[in-house]
Amino acid sequence: MSIQRPKGTQDIIPGTIEKWQFLEEQIRKICSEYGYKEIRTPVFEATELFQRGVGETTDIVNKEMYTFMDKGQRSITLRPEGTASVCRAYTENKLYALQQPVKMYYLGPMFRYEKSQAGRFRQFHQFGAEVLGGEDPLVDAEIICLIWDFFGRIGLKGLVVEINSVGCPTCRAEHRIRLQEFLQERKDDLCPDCQNRFTKNPMRILDCKNSSCQKLTENAPTTLDTLCVDCAEHFAKTQEYLNIAGIAYRINPRMVRGLDYYQKTAFEVTAEGIGAQNAICGGGRYDGLVQEIGGPATPGIGFAMGLERILSVMEKQSVEMLPEVEAPVVIAALGEAARQEGFRLLGDLRQAGMPAVMDLLGKGLKGQLKYADREQARYVLILGDDELARKMVIVRDMRLGEQQEIPLDQIKAFLLNHTKCEM
Ligand code: ATP
Ligand code: MG
Repeated sequence: MSIQRPKGTQDIIPGTIEKWQFLEEQIRKICSEYGYKEIRTPVFEATELFQRGVGETTDIVNKEMYTFMDKGQRSITLRPEGTASVCRAYTENKLYALQQPVKMYYLGPMFRYEKSQAGRFRQFHQFGAEVLGGEDPLVDAEIICLIWDFFGRIGLKGLVVEINSVGCPTCRAEHRIRLQEFLQERKDDLCPDCQNRFTKNPMRILDCKNSSCQKLTENAPTTLDTLCVDCAEHFAKTQEYLNIAGIAYRINPRMVRGLDYYQKTAFEVTAEGIGAQNAICGGGRYDGLVQEIGGPATPGIGFAMGLERILSVMEKQSVEMLPEVEAPVVIAALGEAARQEGFRLLGDLRQAGMPAVMDLLGKGLKGQLKYADREQARYVLILGDDELARKMVIVRDMRLGEQQEIPLDQIKAFLLNHTKCEM
């Protein structure tokens, strides 16, 4: 049998890659407008980074990491998310010495050993951003604005932004006590995972995907019930700024999100019509994280969105996403001498910034014209021995169906002129 790609992975092939490139272009554009700089971190890291930076009680660390020993007996993990790496890089590269806050974004593959199903892959792609060194609620609002603005620009509809405050370690301690009190008598009916969470990190129970756990915790005390003054004020201010920005959000007191280190603001964006895996973006504030992984005490907030899920929403909503691609010039050369001249001309046109291709299989004229058709060529340059002897080339305008002869030494100028007029 032929070798197939690993379960939960995808090939992104021509025909589909254009959609990805379109998304990536939009991402780079909006990030540059909002003043976020790109950061690229390694695709693998020391396992300990995620154990500490994502948290031992999360599903990611507990169940989903691709971890292996390398040849030097180091435990390595393929990154399951981007925040921990960005915080590590912030510390390691002393970015805390720069003007704060530092606003960065990343774009790339993440790896999680999950049951592969619709909307859930083992290698998937995230666009994420992090703001480090800013604790003002304006930072929270701005980052949610970026997300909202981004989804609007790419034309997504029917999205819901939910926000919550999960409090800080001080008020969370109070919530933990109340939650454990509430769950005490229901404990035996929780799923095995949640029974485990009960002592380790009871708040995680509110995030359980299991419907019977969700039902049991329906009326559980929420973190909003126990917010301290500082956290309550932060949450109120964040909402005030979101109102100014005109963002229609919903408060969801049950949304607690995946990371162990979230503090204060947590948020999620969901989309309709893509099935059970409907979260397209999630994020939150993680003021304790940089310190947790050995850096200076630094407030932080960030989000990550799943590009596969975004593309699937775009598909469902028939969002137009194919960028205008410039039609290429195709050179059809007949005979070896013309082929050599054509090859030279090909280089010339490309140097001038024009997309240009020629047949590489030695086809006849008919085959080359068919090839030009498939490439959706705007112009075909036909070059045979006869034209070559007269230093001419036949230019066929594929849209108008007309052709004319142009001197070889004027062809570049002609095409530059004509393709420029159209743009
Ligand atoms: P979910 O609840 O769907 O498991 P999550 O809380 O694990 O999501 P995050 O860790 O917050 O997700 O990652 C941010 C985004 O990355 C998600 O909102 C989703 O769009 C995307 N994502 C997460 N896991 C996967 C996956 N296995 N395949 C595809 N996209 C994913
Ligand atoms: Mg998950």
